[in-house]
Amino acid sequence: MRRPFIAGNWKMNLDRAAAIALAEGLVKHSEGKVGVDLAVCPPSVYLDAVGRVIAGSKIALGAQNVYHEANGAYTGEISVAMLQDLGCKYVILGHSERRHVLGETDAAINKKVHAALKGGLVPIVCVGELLEEREASKTLEVIRRQFDGSLAGVSEAQMKTLVIAYEPVWAIGTGKVATPAQAEEVHLDLRKILQERYNKGVAEAVRIQYGGSVKPDNAAELLAQPDIDGALVGGASLKVDQFLGIAAGAPK
Ligand code: PEP
Repeated sequence: MRRPFIAGNWKMNLDRAAAIALAEGLVKHSEGKVGVDLAVCPPSVYLDAVGRVIAGSKIALGAQNVYHEANGAYTGEISVAMLQDLGCKYVILGHSERRHVLGETDAAINKKVHAALKGGLVPIVCVGELLEEREASKTLEVIRRQFDGSLAGVSEAQMKTLVIAYEPVWAIGTGKVATPAQAEEVHLDLRKILQERYNKGVAEAVRIQYGGSVKPDNAAELLAQPDIDGALVGGASLKVDQFLGIAAGAPK
């Protein structure tokens, strides 16, 4: 049985005071929430402050990106060890905004995945098709290409610890959510890819989140799908009641 996992991607939002207030609200109102794993991924400059607020709570800390090198002359980048120093457990990798706005390639994502795994961070690896790719019936082709490129060389043991997020790009921040059937179809495809590339045990173990305009009013139906194991939430993760409302929709 895969435990539902709801993660909030705060992106480049909030200021320090608002980030702390959001974290405080989440800690206060998440007490007693059982059966679901929760994480927040604030902007890197607020990781320390938010980490202090959520320390000892049931909310884990995640980063939105990392660099693959351990240290050195990489101006502006942040290493796996630095994130661990701040108490991070997770790191989002290959988010569509990094792929499509910032030009990150599967090869670059793959280096980051290996660095994160080697250093003990759990990668949340995002895959997802553009609207034109879906309309051209290329969704599965894109998912396979991103899977094979971003996750090349990941061992069976490592794969079991990793989280995949299926995020159709046309549904991110647009209010256009994939229907539960559309999302489930791709999640099932991802599980088939896991079985082909690894085995049934891996396919059954890996948690696959859905992301793309998840809100409290659509979460339960999405999360009830057999191959959807949680959500990666953008906009709705910036409000305590919405983020925890989504978590409340996870099957018990
Ligand atoms: C995201 O950024 O990963 C995301 C899913 O955003 P939103 O929930 O706002 O669509």
